[in-house]
Amino acid sequence: MKTHETTIPVRAFDRAYINGQFVTPHGTQVVDLVNPTDNKVIGKVTMADEIDTRKAIGAAKEAFNTFSQSSKEYRMDCLQRLHDAVAERMDQLVEATIVEYGAPQDRAKGSNNLAAEIFLHFKKVLGDFDLVKTVGTSKVVMEPAGVVGIFTPWNSSAGSIAIKVAPAIAAGCTVVIKPSEMSAMQTAVLMDAFHEAGLPPGVINVVTGLGEVVGTELTKSPDIQKIAFTGSTQIGKLIAKYSLDTMKRLTLELGGKSPNIILDDADLFTAIPMAINACYLNNGQACIAASRLIVPEDQLDEVKRLAKAAVEKIKMGDPRDRGVTLGPLASIKQYKRVQECIKSGIEEGAELVIGGEGHPQGLEGGNFVKPTVFANVTRDMRIAKEEIFGPVLSILTYKTEAEAIEIANDTEFGLIAYVSSADPERATRVARKLAAGRVLINTLSHDPFAPFGGFKQSGIGREGGIFGLQEYLEPKAIIG
Ligand code: NAD
Repeated sequence: MKTHETTIPVRAFDRAYINGQFVTPHGTQVVDLVNPTDNKVIGKVTMADEIDTRKAIGAAKEAFNTFSQSSKEYRMDCLQRLHDAVAERMDQLVEATIVEYGAPQDRAKGSNNLAAEIFLHFKKVLGDFDLVKTVGTSKVVMEPAGVVGIFTPWNSSAGSIAIKVAPAIAAGCTVVIKPSEMSAMQTAVLMDAFHEAGLPPGVINVVTGLGEVVGTELTKSPDIQKIAFTGSTQIGKLIAKYSLDTMKRLTLELGGKSPNIILDDADLFTAIPMAINACYLNNGQACIAASRLIVPEDQLDEVKRLAKAAVEKIKMGDPRDRGVTLGPLASIKQYKRVQECIKSGIEEGAELVIGGEGHPQGLEGGNFVKPTVFANVTRDMRIAKEEIFGPVLSILTYKTEAEAIEIANDTEFGLIAYVSSADPERATRVARKLAAGRVLINTLSHDPFAPFGGFKQSGIGREGGIFGLQEYLEPKAIIG
């Protein structure tokens, strides 16, 4: 394997951003930041603690007094400045995403460009939105919800942060962000961008630290009125429990086990390579990964042949190498978990079409997993039920359209679903019966103005567009 590790010096990440200033955290615990491509240490990250968190909450609370009263035009200008400052640092952000997370170049560029654009999307949404309406005989004023605590995961750091900060700013809220401790390099770039955007001190604060320390302090604080979280369903439930005492508003974007239904009239030559891409997106570490492929029983042999051929074309390796489309998993922990899932698929009797346990040859130094496809998967198997968060596809079969829908909905999750068909009306009819917050028909495209969020245990609330903005507003009726 061609490696680039000698070019990465070990950096210290020891700043928090509180009240418009970069500060050295009071917390002293230091954790390693590791390059997942070779598992070499590339950073030493100082964890902020409860005292830092309280300072950030205090700054955001103070700033809310004035920022909540600011005009729509002023907030639109803030969103423009945030966009410009993030866009200006695009190269750094892309490099950080590749080095620290292992995203292939195209993915790193696409996801970070989208992160910058999100600020412009919300500038437009705010511009078109009536913050004061007449309803019945009342004046209804849409007021900012308050100080927002933001928690984000490591698999889509800038995007997960932008999709929360942008509507919060649009609404007139102030924020305390706690990014993943595994995203310190991307966080450092974003902190610089937030500072340069020049919003009033305390409007945006960033506290880097551990979930159980910084996260718990934010979740329990009576001065935080809303939590916006992207992460695992397990932690989402914990946050919801803690938030109850202070009746916080919640947006929870959680896990998924998304179904991809191939209807019997679909063009398999298009649909199956697309299905592989939909499952292996972001190195398979995507909450929207289409990890259950549901195909007509009598087309299984052809599906297996096409899936295997599509996987064989994938170029896996150092994400900094041109043409690589599949990189390593983000951590050794994640690698081990995915190995366990692959092992369980084999032990439970699923048919291994391609891939399997262990590292791909020549990629033993990093957290690389063999891109894997299982066929003859049954609904009771672990690989059909659990979110694996790696490049592992499970193929299930159906006899009738009704059975396909039943299999698709047989999950505790409901984030997103995919349908392929030659008949758009038929596909739409099927889409209407799927319990998912978003259904993609014959496409993997993203609509930034459409709502994004989950049914069932995939979450509460929606992000994106007008639905996303409303999550940060409280309606107040003024009567008489
Ligand atoms: P995670 O739930 O472990 O952590 C998410 C964030 O919460 C991190 O910043 C973490 O430090 C913090 N956290 C941990 N414990 C906390 C606590 N007690 N209180 C407050 N915050 C706490 O998730 P992860 O491993 O970072 O990310 C992977 C998960 O995220 C997957 O399950 C994936 O499906 C999910 N995800 C969902 C979406 C979506 O939009 N639905 C998008 C991306 C990822």
